[in-house]
Amino acid sequence: MTAANLPLKASPKIRLMSGIRTSGTLHVGHYWGALRNWIQLQDQYECFFGSMDLHGMTTAYKDPGQIMPWNREVIAEIIAWGVNPEKNVLFIQSLVPEVLELFMIFANLTPMGWLERVPTWKDSEEENKASDTHNLGRFSYPVLQAADISIFLGAKVPVGQDQVAHLELCREIVRRFNHLYKGKLPEPQALLTDTPVLPGLDGRKMSKSYNNGLGLTLEEKDLRKRVNLMVTDPARARRENPGDPEKCSVYGFHKLYSGDEDLRWVVNGCRTAGIGCGDCKGKLSENINNLSKEPREKKKDLLNNPMQLDSIIAAGCSRARDEAQKTLKIVKQCMKLI
Ligand code: SF4
Repeated sequence: MTAANLPLKASPKIRLMSGIRTSGTLHVGHYWGALRNWIQLQDQYECFFGSMDLHGMTTAYKDPGQIMPWNREVIAEIIAWGVNPEKNVLFIQSLVPEVLELFMIFANLTPMGWLERVPTWKDSEEENKASDTHNLGRFSYPVLQAADISIFLGAKVPVGQDQVAHLELCREIVRRFNHLYKGKLPEPQALLTDTPVLPGLDGRKMSKSYNNGLGLTLEEKDLRKRVNLMVTDPARARRENPGDPEKCSVYGFHKLYSGDEDLRWVVNGCRTAGIGCGDCKGKLSENINNLSKEPREKKKDLLNNPMQLDSIIAAGCSRARDEAQKTLKIVKQCMKLI
């Protein structure tokens, strides 16, 4: 058996790779869609969690000076919410440049047609043109994703049901690599996780471009102001009109943040007009604040201690680079490049 054919599994724990696209400070959707799962998964898997700033650059390329401060905030936030930087590898994508070499290797064996069929590209083509992000970086996004996972030999990727199809493209690229070069890169498997989709404050999809997000660790008064902007059931135009909580995004947030007693209070109060929307939003702000005040303080401590944060980031990126370099060496051996 040659070195290129050696099995690549390096750790007794199954490896898991996941990342958050770096496009600003985190909002509550990042907690429910990713962070909450990471906190639960960190004990069972050998985890690589990244601030994926090269992906963020596809839309932030005109103002890249924002990217590094965002990276620092993302890493501080991840730690503040309970992901242990000693047990997990926390890294910044652009500080592991080996991923770009693997991206280029994968790009050459990815037919254009595979990318043209990706629904997120097809569906947002007009929007991309309008926002000046109809670019090669965005088009090749799934190839970089495949490289992100494979550079760490990620065997599991936590995804919601709606993202399983995206992962299938990564698997196809890896299969093609293994077929062409007799490699043994793991085909990443989806680890299905619960990822509730939260609407933005205006009821549309939560998006930076709509400025309708709810920051993850807002100060209490800012949190209250943002919650007050949430759209409610239009039937409750007046305080005395009864409403239907199922038609109101405030109630959708209550389901995530509030206990049974508060939920009953909302449902009964809304249907009987016993409470006003202001009372309902006040209770929601209180409950969100209760969950976020401790991480908020921890994040502030980290950002106020730049040396401590920098050393955590440096240690994580160094561990990530070590693994990435090992993988790249094996990849090149498979391809007979070295
Ligand atoms: S009372 Fe609450 S659930 Fe009902 S419409 Fe107002 S904000 Fe929504």
